Amino acid sequence: MTERVLHGRPASPGLAIGQIVALAAADRPHRAASGDPAAEAAVLRDALGAALAETQALQQRVEGEAADMIAFQAGMLEDEELAAPAFAIIAEGSAADAAWQVAMDEEIAGYAAAEDAYFRARTADLQDIRDRVLARLRPEGHTAAVAPGAIVAAADLPLSRFLGIDWNRGGAILLTEGSATSHVAMLARARGIPMIVGLGGAARDLDGRTALVDAETGEVIVDARPASRARFEAKLDGAREAAQGLQATLAASAVTVDGTRIAMHLNVVGAEELRSLDPAICDGIGLFRTEFLFHGPALPDEETQYAAYRAVVEWAAGRPVTIRTLDAGGDKPIPGVTVDGESNPFLGLRGLRLSLRNPDLFRVQLRAILRAARHGRLRVMLPMVTVPQELAAARTLLESEFAVLSRAGHPAPMPELGIMVEVPAVAIAIERFDAAFFSVGSNDLTQYVTAAGRDIAAVADLADPADPAVLRLIAGVVRHGHATGRDVSLCGDAGGDPAVIPALLAAGLRSLSVSPGQLARAKRAVSTVDLRAVPK
Ligand code: PEP
Ligand code: MG
Repeated sequence: MTERVLHGRPASPGLAIGQIVALAAADRPHRAASGDPAAEAAVLRDALGAALAETQALQQRVEGEAADMIAFQAGMLEDEELAAPAFAIIAEGSAADAAWQVAMDEEIAGYAAAEDAYFRARTADLQDIRDRVLARLRPEGHTAAVAPGAIVAAADLPLSRFLGIDWNRGGAILLTEGSATSHVAMLARARGIPMIVGLGGAARDLDGRTALVDAETGEVIVDARPASRARFEAKLDGAREAAQGLQATLAASAVTVDGTRIAMHLNVVGAEELRSLDPAICDGIGLFRTEFLFHGPALPDEETQYAAYRAVVEWAAGRPVTIRTLDAGGDKPIPGVTVDGESNPFLGLRGLRLSLRNPDLFRVQLRAILRAARHGRLRVMLPMVTVPQELAAARTLLESEFAVLSRAGHPAPMPELGIMVEVPAVAIAIERFDAAFFSVGSNDLTQYVTAAGRDIAAVADLADPADPAVLRLIAGVVRHGHATGRDVSLCGDAGGDPAVIPALLAAGLRSLSVSPGQLARAKRAVSTVDLRAVPK
């Protein structure tokens, strides 16, 4: 075997070594057709039933927003309309698997080309459903279950597939396409699973090969020569030793060489991520991304939201929890809420803009947040603020819901109201915004300052949060915060990137919020910075 080296973009750091399992039942050998349409239809019905049972079992194992997404897939599988075209093809004499694949590929192509961003976003779910059923129809080769510790290769990895794999024994994710800002990438970072995206080529060509995955650099060595393998194993040993040291780092405070304490918070999408973590490792939750609660088949009601917010507030045991109001739109469309067919969703009705256009929806969220505030220290954060009037309008709604709850006898403190600094107009004229605190959203701020889409691989090099223009804006926000006694933090992915942390601290930041899987490394990166060396 000749050694092959592939290059992609790291989406979640770490190293892994193992055998690749390519997830694409569509590529497996076809069944031989029985020639009997009734028998083929029965085979497809059985496969659909088995795939539905598997999906429902998965639904029991996962919670919160993930369960809602799986519920969407279960709903699709239950819908007779989905398989009707496949049954029609079978009636014309095709084998069950071929008919299902043709029908689903057509459906998927329709979703992928849809004007409506919601349908486009569901393409991965449909691919998942197609493959789940095909795995039953074409059981040769790998079964649907991926062995723990495997290196999973795919074009893209749907969330349900990710959640159905046991990652407790290691493993890694290699995507030939994919995005570093996808839901799966966020969860991979939170759980410490190495992940590389944008590798190109076809996942099926990697199936069964042994891979050395370096998600620090984005390099994958397939069928490595002994010398490459020895080098990689030495790096792995070094990383394991460092990881042991990182456990101690995790428990300790983040302090620079010159003794400056940096507050370290966590970015989460729900309480599930926190279950195995001791709250003492952090200074609180710097960003609770609530939009993941809204991805189910129905919008979450006040009780559902209240329970989700309360669970995180209780976990934090008195530490501050910053709950961001719905940040739908852009790359996070939500059916029935976001606007379909915007020519540039990142410049459209997203974040607070959208919440203010949907006051009923916004009020439900604000009430749930206000009720959760009784259980600990909670702050409310508004995404995508652009002008002070938006902050004022949101404050009016918050205060009005607060008054309603107070009258109804819900004793709760009024939470601080802060804003994300992710639109250049805010960073440039920060003194216009009378918010209690500021949190820099470096993912969006960077894409808007550099005019390089955060989801476009071809311009990933330009979307650099350490670009001097981005850093200068951050420094200005920090200066304003110091001058006016307002807390300034950063909750974009740059805060968890050891390569960028020194520049962020040099820009004056003393508070960062990172995903749980990045916390130890971020603390270690902080401990190597000497702020005395930073020019004043
Ligand atoms: C950001 O833009 O940096 C941010 C934290 O928000 P999101 O990534 O959810 O848009
Ligand atoms: Mg953002």
